[in-house]
Amino acid sequence: MYRKTISDKISLEGIGIHTGKASKITFLPSQEPLGIRFIKQIKSSKPFIISANLENVKTTVRGTSIGEGTEIIHTVEHILSACAGLHIDDLDVEINSGEPPIMDGSAVEFAKALLKADIKEKKDQTKFFLKFDKEFEFNEGKAYYKIKPHHGLKFKLKFANKHKLVGSQTIEINLNNESYLKEIAPARTFGFKNEIDYLLKNGLALGGSLNNAIIIDDEQILSSSGKLRFENEFARHKLLDLIGDLKLTGFDFKNISIEAGYTGHKTNVNFAKLLKSKVTKTI
Ligand SMILES: [Zn+2]
Repeated sequence: MYRKTISDKISLEGIGIHTGKASKITFLPSQEPLGIRFIKQIKSSKPFIISANLENVKTTVRGTSIGEGTEIIHTVEHILSACAGLHIDDLDVEINSGEPPIMDGSAVEFAKALLKADIKEKKDQTKFFLKFDKEFEFNEGKAYYKIKPHHGLKFKLKFANKHKLVGSQTIEINLNNESYLKEIAPARTFGFKNEIDYLLKNGLALGGSLNNAIIIDDEQILSSSGKLRFENEFARHKLLDLIGDLKLTGFDFKNISIEAGYTGHKTNVNFAKLLKSKVTKTI
């Protein structure tokens, strides 16, 4: 199998969920096997390139931020998730701010844009996958991750919260382009009302609204459409985030199953580091 990029460029605009600032991104084809790179270009200043890899992770507080030196791009995980879900290996993401637009809080607009830009194979570049012959587990606090050899690519994720309207949710899926686009990409970001007040006080979630997040109040679940897209939308969004964070390994996955629960960006990134340290590359 060969590495994939897109054929055409395509732009999206909106606001960053944490900065609240206007943001424009342009997905550009990448001929080199350099993975996913963010190219920060503010006005006429020199472009600054930040590769989306584990070494460049700067923070994992309410999102995954990557950076080099003093340059940071916040909340990259939904774009990375769309790339991983559609098996895109190499892509340049030009960005004119410190955070991509949050769009509707899911990855579906990113995934649709990438499909529209026509995903293509690079026939001169062989693709390598992560391969595991033995199963292993990673635990951190309540979070758990189990990885096993499997025929195909399967994910199972559990999310639970003691809130009376949430409880315990699970999503189990055989992942391919179609299932990612229909079942995972549309699941939106969510937050609990009491957490949001805290985030605002700390200068986060400044662009957050019902247009880009589901808010769980004491008595009700609020969203722009008035209803959830899936009854287990929270578990699905947590899986969307996990798939995005695992893209930081720089690898595509096949023939494994990953089962995880109580995940967050910090534990996702630590799990990704462990995976990378145990990897066997295979075509
Ligand atoms: Zn997310």
